[in-house]
Amino acid sequence: MDTQLIRPLNTFSEWIRAEDAHAGYHLELLAQANRVLEAPQPASAGQRADLAERLERWRYQLLSERRGRLRPEDLQLAEALDLAAARLAGRPARPPRSLRRVLGDPEFGREVIQQAQMRLDPRFPLDRLVEEARRLTQAHFAAPAPNGTGGQRRRMFLYVPLYLSNYCINYCLYCGFRYPEQIPRRQLSPQEALREAEVLAQWGFRHVLLVAGDFPGRITTEYLTEVARRLHARGFQLAVEIAPLSTADYQALRAAGICGVTLYQETYREDLYYQYHPRGVKSAYDWRLEGLERAAEAGMGRLGLGILLGLAPPAEDLLAMLRHALYLRERFPDRILAFSLPRIHDAPSGFRIPFPVSDEQLIRLYCVLRVAFPEAELVLSTREPPWLRNHLARICITQMSAGSSTAPGGYREKSLSWRRPHAAPGPASSAESCRPPLGLPTPPPTPLSEPAHVPPANALQTWALPAGTPPVSPPPACAPPASTAPAPTPEACAPPAWGGSAWAESAQTAFPLHRRPGEQFPVADHRSPAELSDWLRSEGFLIVWQGVEPAPCPE
Ligand code: SF4
Repeated sequence: MDTQLIRPLNTFSEWIRAEDAHAGYHLELLAQANRVLEAPQPASAGQRADLAERLERWRYQLLSERRGRLRPEDLQLAEALDLAAARLAGRPARPPRSLRRVLGDPEFGREVIQQAQMRLDPRFPLDRLVEEARRLTQAHFAAPAPNGTGGQRRRMFLYVPLYLSNYCINYCLYCGFRYPEQIPRRQLSPQEALREAEVLAQWGFRHVLLVAGDFPGRITTEYLTEVARRLHARGFQLAVEIAPLSTADYQALRAAGICGVTLYQETYREDLYYQYHPRGVKSAYDWRLEGLERAAEAGMGRLGLGILLGLAPPAEDLLAMLRHALYLRERFPDRILAFSLPRIHDAPSGFRIPFPVSDEQLIRLYCVLRVAFPEAELVLSTREPPWLRNHLARICITQMSAGSSTAPGGYREKSLSWRRPHAAPGPASSAESCRPPLGLPTPPPTPLSEPAHVPPANALQTWALPAGTPPVSPPPACAPPASTAPAPTPEACAPPAWGGSAWAESAQTAFPLHRRPGEQFPVADHRSPAELSDWLRSEGFLIVWQGVEPAPCPE
């Protein structure tokens, strides 16, 4: 790939005159940028930063306003704006982004995708897949036992989300923080965030995922960097799960001590994406899609991908996510990739899950990820019940949260309710000691307790995606709304016949789901960090409280 392929910004003047509703303003901005870029005397750093920021804003506007109808020339302009902003901000030139193209390219990552397709097919025996995933996880995530016996133990990296704010201006139909929800809203001050983090430190945590809704006027880069500086100074390793940012903003977060970005695409099916995100800044599909790439360009070392299971045909979404990850690995081979498969169990009233995913399908999806990316972190949240988390931990999960609260300020409250003192975290395992040599002995397999999977007669069409299969259509009742039409009523999104709702029924009886006021989603695994740690140790896991970082954050 060659930066020369990106057209110079000044070649778009005609296009801007003809197509842009703000042509006057943008032509002037373009002229200013060209003057600074081509001037013999460099402009001041402040002038350059200001221009770069305005070009980035223009770029976001372009991707947002033309969502769902971006043409090649629009994308070329977006590339040119980004390159000009990078030059103004002093960032190195980069090759053109081509994620959109590779997502639709059947040749890209063909071998990995074919292998994944084969294993996604319910006719591929689940117990064989589980054993394959277990073996690979053991080989890549075992570490020497600390007692010097020469033995090997699987490591489990424990982290915790810290919700900073539940203010949000988006309309994601499935989310408890969505703008129209009448919930108590709160945003922690940097001091309050530090107090929450002190509770987490007492529980043993060293890696914190900072989570916030999308509210640009409140969750500013200045606010996030202030929180990050305080927590970083307190010794925490930090990552964020927030709205996608510009490259410059990611750089600012990185300078403040944030080393990882988790950004779930939710679904890669663009038509369904617009349906679930009918309004708000999150409805800009492309801006979100390239968010992890911008984060990586800004130097973030840990990149977390995910799909929200329940929104789209899961196999189709998983394959798209694999392509996304293959693309990131090709561009940024030194970064750590992490995957998560959050599953919707509960949503704002009336939202019925269009593509339910059973427990067994969830296990299969995680195992397919492990086989495709043997070295990647597989993350499992407390959305799932304890038995299923335990089961998946034994197979392929390498990163778990514990004791989570999904409401801002929830940990101080929880700390009062947990009387049991937390066991001290094990010896501070250095991240490096957790990367084992390959070829370790495989432990005897744990037999699967689940019965062999017998797919429903019509499941093959939706679940498995043989090469060349056209995309599965959304349920007819869930047609995307016209841009002026009101958002589809969640009631209209009835589950398709193939999926059944067995798991949803069992979820109702097997574990209570109770969303407390102000929470994003209900937690299903209520074990405290001490309880989960005890269980992990009893199973022979080595608990790790900090992740491996490919490049340390600035001090
Ligand atoms: S999913 Fe995120 S962006 Fe959407 S409503 Fe919830 S918090 Fe806001």
